[in-house]
Amino acid sequence: MRIDIATLFPEMCENYLSQSIIGRARSTGSIEINCHNIRDYADNKHNSVDDKPYGGGTGMVIQAEPVYKCITDIIGDNKPKLIYMSPQGKTLTQELVKELAREEWLVILCGHYEGVDCRVIEELDFMEISVGDYVVTGGELPALILTDAVARLQEGVLPDESAYTEDSHFNGLLEHPLYTRPEIWHGKSVPEILLSGHHANIKKWRDEESVNTTYRKRPDLLNK
Ligand code: SAM
Repeated sequence: MRIDIATLFPEMCENYLSQSIIGRARSTGSIEINCHNIRDYADNKHNSVDDKPYGGGTGMVIQAEPVYKCITDIIGDNKPKLIYMSPQGKTLTQELVKELAREEWLVILCGHYEGVDCRVIEELDFMEISVGDYVVTGGELPALILTDAVARLQEGVLPDESAYTEDSHFNGLLEHPLYTRPEIWHGKSVPEILLSGHHANIKKWRDEESVNTTYRKRPDLLNK
């Protein structure tokens, strides 16, 4: 899978995406991720790509033309899925992550300041995706959340499928509680069953605890 991120702050994205699991997956070729600077498509010597909003108000708006040039330069004649990270978009869920993980190529646009001139969002037919009903200063963190969530479902990124299929939300439930050494910590013991080595019983315990955890922490998920 290939993911391209168009942003005013490519180093913010590169910094995160060059480390840990995603960084390793990029270097082994399990996923290709490229970050592009929208400022490279400015038409003035100050590399300015934003201007005041028509109608007045505080903040600046990213102009349509540099975004248009940046995205069309990335995609050429191809038709990858275009996504604009926006608090006005469809809320990101694991179901949507699974759907997007099946695409061959995603191009993600990050807004900043007050956002992006709406005409380029319409013109290029971006799907708008939100990471939740709150507002952050730029689309970089939302784009990184989406990129990370989609990347970890690609073959070769995690050790095997169970590394994500058994995680919270993959099948609509939360994961069972986790324990590691030492066996007793602050007077709290690891459940006996996890020390038994009996795989079938451990699986049964984990399945039950997954339902119990969901019931306690997110009962709304059980109604779905
Ligand atoms: N003026 C915009 C509005 O009220 O809808 C908010 C702009 S926000 C300060 C700047 C940029 O951050 C947005 O263009 C978007 O790319 C990103 N952003 C902020 N909150 C987001 C969210 N919840 N999900 C996805 N992107 C978000």
